[in-house]
Amino acid sequence: MTQDATPPTSNLQPPTSNLQLPTSSLRWWGWGTLDQSYDLSHRPNFWPLVHDRLGVSGEVVSPPIEFDTIPLPDSHLPHPDLSDLRRIFGEEAVRVDRLSRVVHAYGKSFRDLIRIRRGEVTHPPDAVVYPTDEAQIVALFVLAAQKHWHIIPFGGGSSVTGGLEPFAPRDALRINQPTITLDFARLNRVVSIDQTSHTATVQCGMLGPDLEAALNASGFTLGHFPQSFEFSTLGGWIATRSAGQTSIGYGKIEEMVERMRLISPRGAIDIKPLPASATGPNLLQLLVGSEGAFGVITEATLRIKPLPAARDYRGMLFHSFADGVDAIRELMQREIGVVMARLSDSNETGASLALSRAPTTRSARLRLRAGQWLIGRRGYDFASSCLMVIGTEGETDRVEKIKKAALEACQSHGGTNLGSSVGRSWLRERYALPYLRDDLLDRGIMIDTLETATTWSNLLDLYGALTRALEDAIAATGSKPFVMTHVSHAYHDGASLYTTFLGAQASDPIAQWWSVKRAATEAIMAQDGALSHHHGIGRDHAAWLAREHGELGLEAFRALKATFDPDGLLNRGVMNLDTD
Ligand SMILES: Cc1cc2nc3c(=O)[nH]c(=O)nc-3n(C[C@H](O)[C@H](O)[C@H](O)COP(=O)(O)OP(=O)(O)OC[C@H]3O[C@@H](n4cnc5c(N)ncnc54)[C@H](O)[C@@H]3O)c2cc1C
Repeated sequence: MTQDATPPTSNLQPPTSNLQLPTSSLRWWGWGTLDQSYDLSHRPNFWPLVHDRLGVSGEVVSPPIEFDTIPLPDSHLPHPDLSDLRRIFGEEAVRVDRLSRVVHAYGKSFRDLIRIRRGEVTHPPDAVVYPTDEAQIVALFVLAAQKHWHIIPFGGGSSVTGGLEPFAPRDALRINQPTITLDFARLNRVVSIDQTSHTATVQCGMLGPDLEAALNASGFTLGHFPQSFEFSTLGGWIATRSAGQTSIGYGKIEEMVERMRLISPRGAIDIKPLPASATGPNLLQLLVGSEGAFGVITEATLRIKPLPAARDYRGMLFHSFADGVDAIRELMQREIGVVMARLSDSNETGASLALSRAPTTRSARLRLRAGQWLIGRRGYDFASSCLMVIGTEGETDRVEKIKKAALEACQSHGGTNLGSSVGRSWLRERYALPYLRDDLLDRGIMIDTLETATTWSNLLDLYGALTRALEDAIAATGSKPFVMTHVSHAYHDGASLYTTFLGAQASDPIAQWWSVKRAATEAIMAQDGALSHHHGIGRDHAAWLAREHGELGLEAFRALKATFDPDGLLNRGVMNLDTD
């Protein structure tokens, strides 16, 4: 990433305030902060690849609208109600300015970004409030029940499933019902660290980097590094059952949570901190993944690990995706101990190569050519080979042993070792790619990602069916498809697939996206994949939830919703749980 001297949108007006909130430094139309962008210098092969695959020119054809020209509807909140909110949260922590309302109108899915870039912000929240304690949240629930407000819990705002969108009323009676977004940016402290049990109690609004820095200072790590790490929060991770890049070693977020506190409109639930229990169904796990529809997760106690003394990340190249899949399965089923094994298919490997930096010195160029020649001599064809980035962390001796065993396992499936420079470059760039999405959107490209999971015996069939469905659906919209996938998280019995799809945008990119998304989701469901492995359900996957869990399963979820939130105050539309 680079530091941008001049942000692309010059008329961004941060609200004047003494209370420092992250909103004013964010790219309201895209990913991350205003001073960062994806550094495309020294990557000469990227735009030619995009041109070749998608047939687009690389010219900027659809930049975001100027901020001041977004036709934002006025807040529906009458003045006395605003005063009530200010009494609860304090003057500074109730925001109705344009920027706050725009930044909180959507998450970060393709559909969200297209609408915001076009200035289509038809249902922004009427106010954004920033609690500092649970009493304020409870007071808001009381007021909301009296006044029929909707409430949307908001962490980092990185939802990619429509999890944050204010309810767009279809019925005239509800049209003026205000929506209040509850942003947890000020609930951002580590409450305590238990050095004996290796747990940390943390408030829900802590962003990834702040949380890791605080744990690292005490010699620990959570080990949760989603690609959205820099702009997502603990509460959001738990609410969506998130997975970090090293989930093989550290687990998914649901495995890290030992205890949590949830404030619902009916009252609080505080799960006891226990390593395990046999006390009926697992209440904690019924709340993890509830996407803000049952209540607000205010804090959680997390299992943490000592900071690793050593790390080894390196690249391996395989002749085919199937060979790489077999290698990961062996790594998992023999419990070799890697923390990450991320295998790209040949399309994604080609895109990664096109994004690698061109060497700038003569000796680096010579080294690169020699390396390529050597790999060619070993019989690997760059057009069809598949890259795996494999990571090991822990005590130094253990890392050495695991590395050796992992290399042997990979080599037995035709893998060749590309060395640790590939691993270092992956670590350096692991959070940068989302910035590139904004450059692609500028150039009129549809780009989105989706994910699923299945058993090893079904993985390649699901991969094939999903890829075909996406390619056919994109082609049916008149665009050349480019679809690429990696195995992102792996388990003893199966793995998750993470797919990126691209095509030139059609005249109605949202209708185009829906037709592609529907085809992909239908393919996943037909092939018995998970409706989601880690992005959650939100509003975008809600229509398929009954097929995932059965009608009775959905009815059980709805009964829980009615128990915790009988007036339907929270996150209406998420997971299809509202019955009125
Ligand atoms: C570029 C990019 C990369 C991503 N990479 C990954 C990845 O590697 N792994 C992964 O798992 N996901 C990933 N995601 C998806 C997203 O980051 C995750 O879903 C993340 O967990 C959301 O956290 P957040 O704090 O941004 O939550 P938000 O987006 O603010 O909220 C998500 C949902 O949770 C609810 N919610 C938020 N906080 C609370 C709370 N305290 N209590 C109750 N409900 C709450 C919201 O109402 C919403 O429905 C990515 C998204 C983007 C845009």
